Amino acid sequence: MCARFRDIRTGHRVERITCTEDGAGFQAATADGGVFTAPLVIAATGAFSRPYRPAVPGLDSFAGTVLHTSDYRRPEPFTGRRVVIVGGGNSAVQIAIELAAVADVTLATRHPLRFMPQRIAGRDIHLWLQRTGLDTAGWARPLLTGGQGTPVMDTGTYRDTVASGNPDRRPMFDRLDGDQVIWSDATREPIDAVLLATGYRPGVDYLAGLGALDEHGTPSHRAGVSTTVPGLGYVGLEWQRSFASATLRGVGADARHVLTRLLKRSRRNGAAAPAGDPASVHGGSGAGEVR
Ligand SMILES: Cc1cc2nc3c(=O)[nH]c(=O)nc-3n(C[C@H](O)[C@H](O)[C@H](O)COP(=O)(O)OP(=O)(O)OC[C@H]3O[C@@H](n4cnc5c(N)ncnc54)[C@H](O)[C@@H]3O)c2cc1C
Repeated sequence: MCARFRDIRTGHRVERITCTEDGAGFQAATADGGVFTAPLVIAATGAFSRPYRPAVPGLDSFAGTVLHTSDYRRPEPFTGRRVVIVGGGNSAVQIAIELAAVADVTLATRHPLRFMPQRIAGRDIHLWLQRTGLDTAGWARPLLTGGQGTPVMDTGTYRDTVASGNPDRRPMFDRLDGDQVIWSDATREPIDAVLLATGYRPGVDYLAGLGALDEHGTPSHRAGVSTTVPGLGYVGLEWQRSFASATLRGVGADARHVLTRLLKRSRRNGAAAPAGDPASVHGGSGAGEVR
């Protein structure tokens, strides 16, 4: 196995990937001035490196504090404050409950919160997802998300704590105005802080020049194979093929799937893969060049 991984290089940050002049492959330029070429590229740079800040009306001119969950460290700085948390996922609920001990907190969400027990019959939910096959089944997505995002894993107290009203949950507000929030029923109230618990996007800016990304900067792909750039693939994206895709449990099967597709296409097109260089993998799950 080791012999199949030639030329592993670490400590290089890829800044830009472009097509080679003959169009047969890719050229990766690194921050330290290096250049790598390869007929295939797999982007494996993670799914959670770019905090997602949605366009919330009035947020840019909001007079209070605005922060993303990636900037949140501890509740004390919010003691006695009025805080609105945007989002209804795991981070939103966990931080809301922690903050509610010292602050007046509301969760503003587009849909009612949905809870899934963290443990069933004494075992973690992830074990059951794995045993039932739901973990790696693409068709299970609507079943697991209800079309409304990943449910909140409830350790036993989250649902009851939110039901008690501290923190409370309300439908997403209409907009912010100065230091006020305007709720969907048109009532206004002054608030001190907005915390965006709105998740992350993959940090793949280095692919922008290829036409690989959509208008939101996220990869256009089907099951990890780029739908716009032949020879480009991904591993580790959220819901790339299944619930487990962005976890250590799912990435192996996804990697096999993507490499198989890319290599098949490459052979079909008779691409003259330079010996030992059929693919460059950028990122953590398997940085290096792969045969
Ligand atoms: C809060 C949290 C909890 C999680 N808990 C679990 C869990 O319990 N179990 C589980 O299986 N998964 C968990 N995950 C998912 C976890 O992120 C993945 O399982 C795993 O880290 C994915 O590995 P990866 O190699 O795809 O991405 P990452 O671990 O994100 O690695 C990406 C790599 O790419 C490199 N990189 C980024 N940009 C560039 C660039 N331009 N050029 C070169 N290199 C670059 C980075 O330096 C990094 O080394 C969790 C995620 C989060 C956010």
